[in-house]
Amino acid sequence: MRRRMLVVGNWKMHGSIAFAVDLAKTVVDASCNFASMDIAICPPHVLLGVVGTQLGGSEVALGAQTVSEFAEGAYTGETAASMLAELGCKFVIVGHSERRHLFGETNDIVAAKAAMALAAGMTPIICVGERLEDRKNGTTRTVIGEQLRPFMEPPGIDTLRQAVIAYEPVWAIGTGETATPKEAQDVHNFIRSSIAVVDKSISDTIRILYGGSVKPDNAPDLFRMTDIDGSLVGGASLKADDFLLICGSTQPN
Ligand code: PEP
Repeated sequence: MRRRMLVVGNWKMHGSIAFAVDLAKTVVDASCNFASMDIAICPPHVLLGVVGTQLGGSEVALGAQTVSEFAEGAYTGETAASMLAELGCKFVIVGHSERRHLFGETNDIVAAKAAMALAAGMTPIICVGERLEDRKNGTTRTVIGEQLRPFMEPPGIDTLRQAVIAYEPVWAIGTGETATPKEAQDVHNFIRSSIAVVDKSISDTIRILYGGSVKPDNAPDLFRMTDIDGSLVGGASLKADDFLLICGSTQPN
């Protein structure tokens, strides 16, 4: 059976209060057209409050782009999972490639963040993906296997049970390059099969999103792939029309 599709907008460090209110309201107003799928939007932390107010009572979920791996304390500039949960976040993106490569987040830090999110009642969206040189060297599976490693044994496996995975090839993020549906499906299938080795029930139910320059014109073919359960959308999530067309592409024809 097909898993319920999920489309998540990652606004990254874009927007203003006025922009965020307007975009969130447009998405909420259209969301009644998408009853058979799930939608989440992840604004910058400082805009979570105003966006959460717009989403209140709707089916569109609020998500955050990262979370601290620490519960609370003297961690200047960080945001605790409990604070995000209190603002109404249902999802937290962890291990986005920009966090891994620009801010030095290791696989173990990503696992700690995912566990924090889950402990506060939110669903972690665990991002994995290879760089261009990994793909050229033929080490895509090795790199992704290593990124998944902390989640393949206790206690990480318990986090995985309630998580979402996003496969985002780094070379496709914000570049206009997209993995072909077959390239994406191959990696999604590899991820699902790797999980099946340790827990078949998780592999059957976990949603694996594709991310990397998803646009209205390439989304339908990606969503036809059996192991692609939706998308993590960056640039196109900042344009209401494009984001809503991508959401609409998840509906069976
Ligand atoms: C992302 O940042 O998660 C992403 C997929 O970005 P884009 O859609 O712009 O490639």
